Amino acid sequence: MSFDSLGLSPALVQAAARRGYAAPTAIQAAAIPAILQGRDLRGSAQTGSGKTAAFSLPLLQRLVSERPQGARRVRALVLVPTRELAAQVGETLHDLARDLPERPKIVTAFGGVSINPQMMSLRGGADIVVATPGRLLDLADHNALRLDGVAMLVLDEADRLFDLGFADELGRILEQLPKRRQNLLFSATFPGAIQALADGMLHEPALVDVQGEPGTAPDIVQRVIEVDPGRRTQLLRHLLKQHENEWGRVLVFVATQHAAQTVAEKLYRNGIYAVPFHGDIAQGTRADILSQFRQSRWDVVVATDLAARGIDIAQLPVVINYDLPRSPADYIHRIGRTGRAGESGLAISFVSASTQAHFRVIEKRHGLKLPRERIEGFEPVEVAPPLVDASGTGGIKGKRPSKKDKLRAAAKAAQPHDGEES
Ligand code: AMP
Repeated sequence: MSFDSLGLSPALVQAAARRGYAAPTAIQAAAIPAILQGRDLRGSAQTGSGKTAAFSLPLLQRLVSERPQGARRVRALVLVPTRELAAQVGETLHDLARDLPERPKIVTAFGGVSINPQMMSLRGGADIVVATPGRLLDLADHNALRLDGVAMLVLDEADRLFDLGFADELGRILEQLPKRRQNLLFSATFPGAIQALADGMLHEPALVDVQGEPGTAPDIVQRVIEVDPGRRTQLLRHLLKQHENEWGRVLVFVATQHAAQTVAEKLYRNGIYAVPFHGDIAQGTRADILSQFRQSRWDVVVATDLAARGIDIAQLPVVINYDLPRSPADYIHRIGRTGRAGESGLAISFVSASTQAHFRVIEKRHGLKLPRERIEGFEPVEVAPPLVDASGTGGIKGKRPSKKDKLRAAAKAAQPHDGEES
């Protein structure tokens, strides 16, 4: 299969070649023809599978071939949950559009930076806006853009956008869009309730699911190491030193901003170039950290789940879950940071007696059964806390812990142990 055969214009085929895409990925092969036909689409694909180009290429083609005369109104809106993802999708669109005879105007807008330059760039309208929901609404409230001409709507990381945190904003945005439009929803996962919301928005959608297809999921080796919570930083240091020459850049996930700071500081004090990355760090600094990480000026980034989505760093070979993610979906997003576009990757998760049950929930959800490893010198000694009470009898006489109790206890046990390892 080649990009030629998907119905794309020569300029876009050339753009794909220029970016080094030899052949379409599975999601691209399935989604591009359906989008070019004007159909709605719900696409499930792992991060790293080429989702961005899967919607960007046909979106550019449709916009250019169907450009109306007259004043520019926003005709395509790409909504994303994070600033980093907005920046990245915006860059991809700009680059893919470079060879088009008539270049569309693309504006990227996200919060955390001054709104004025974004308002300036929207003067005279724009063809494509890539935005996070909050900033888009701010711009609409300032009359910097109108959304009633949107013919194509893309929700990238749609599961996150349907989350409670965004629900209100998303609702307000959808109200401003015309009823007739093409809707493209992409996500690594579509849990039941999210799928129902998604389907409520879609009209006879093409359903593209390349999740389990052999050869399409990035090649990621998943390892699980048992270690007591209080020894994780030492184990991390040990692994980083041991694999210094082979790993290169490493992304370490922790549960809280505080943990990101303390773990990064401890590594740094031990001669490892590590830097924290979380939502409390200014947007400009975050962008600098990522670009320095790409240039290998940092060896280790210790991040909260803020970094689990949207960051594409070629040759990021290793991701380490120092703290487990809260949800099974986040596990996939985190490990999707490695092994992108067919490169091989390694994802290591630290589990302890008290987080084993939570990790089993993650495994079960993804149909995994991963062997547990122990590293010499770091063998755990702690035992799992009882799930209901200390007597070990199952709590109130005659009442055994329900499945819900167990899940609750497992989730509680998976909470970070702030202040440990002082
Ligand atoms: P995405 O899933 O959109 O975040 O893309 C992950 C990575 O795959 C990005 O670095 C893309 O540049 C790259 N990519 C996208 N499509 C292809 C392709 N057809 N062949 C090779 N790499 C690709």
